Amino acid sequence: MQVFCVANQKGGVGKTTTTVNLAAGLAQVGQRVLIIDLDPQGNATMGSGVDKRALELSVYDVLLESSTIAEARQRTDKGGYDVLGANRELAGAEIELVSVERRSERLRGALVAVEADYDFVLIDCPPSLSLLTLNGLCSANGVIVPMQCEYFALEGLTDLVNTIRQVHANLNPQLQIIGLLRVMFDNRMTLQQQVSEQLKSHFGDKVFDAVIPRNVRLAEAPSYGQAGVVFDPSSRGAQAYIAFANEMVERSRLVL
Ligand code: ADP
Ligand code: MG
Repeated sequence: MQVFCVANQKGGVGKTTTTVNLAAGLAQVGQRVLIIDLDPQGNATMGSGVDKRALELSVYDVLLESSTIAEARQRTDKGGYDVLGANRELAGAEIELVSVERRSERLRGALVAVEADYDFVLIDCPPSLSLLTLNGLCSANGVIVPMQCEYFALEGLTDLVNTIRQVHANLNPQLQIIGLLRVMFDNRMTLQQQVSEQLKSHFGDKVFDAVIPRNVRLAEAPSYGQAGVVFDPSSRGAQAYIAFANEMVERSRLVL
């Protein structure tokens, strides 16, 4: 079982879209996948067709050790993967966990029991470097960083890279950046091409080959409770995420 965080401390950069589409893409190529929604907004939960308002058990209960993952997970309708859902209740966990022991290692502890159930676990992180994100980073083998090729993109990475370094040094020696994923890419924009080249010269093969274009079908899919790769498999966005899923299968063979 390989565990990856999808993280970037900025909001609206494509973390959830990447988590959901990578999960469904991996499922389509025969992998057993669990999404853990670590964002109180619950977008990965809803975008997988699971109603966050109707959750009886969620990742909140798992973090507070009042439920196991096996009890709280749900099967997605069409995605072919499982979801450990989240809703607003999770925002409270941040405060409740502060005073407990091993507060950043709760999720890692819970994952041990489902080790044999999955090939990939994808953790959709909130847009912050909070205790929730820390639980994700402590559980993971690696981090996938979706980013838009904008002017300040590289600068925005500094905090995340420093946090990953600290977690690597102090809490989780396995942790590494698996790669940077260029998302919402518009090939007609010269600036995006330039930033993309900068990324490649700065991070080398840590930049994934797959590039996710800006594609309206990916943005429409969540309102149907489906991943884009399920909702409209022939769309350019879906095709790009399928290519990314295949690349992840290849890379994780090499990396781990
Ligand atoms: P985050 O989880 O980082 O906050 P989201 O995945 O929710 O970001 O994406 C933010 C918004 O951008 C959403 O409305 C989503 O549908 C849209 N979006 C994400 N990726 C794409 C894409 N490749 N093309 C078009 N819209 C996208
Ligand atoms: Mg999100």
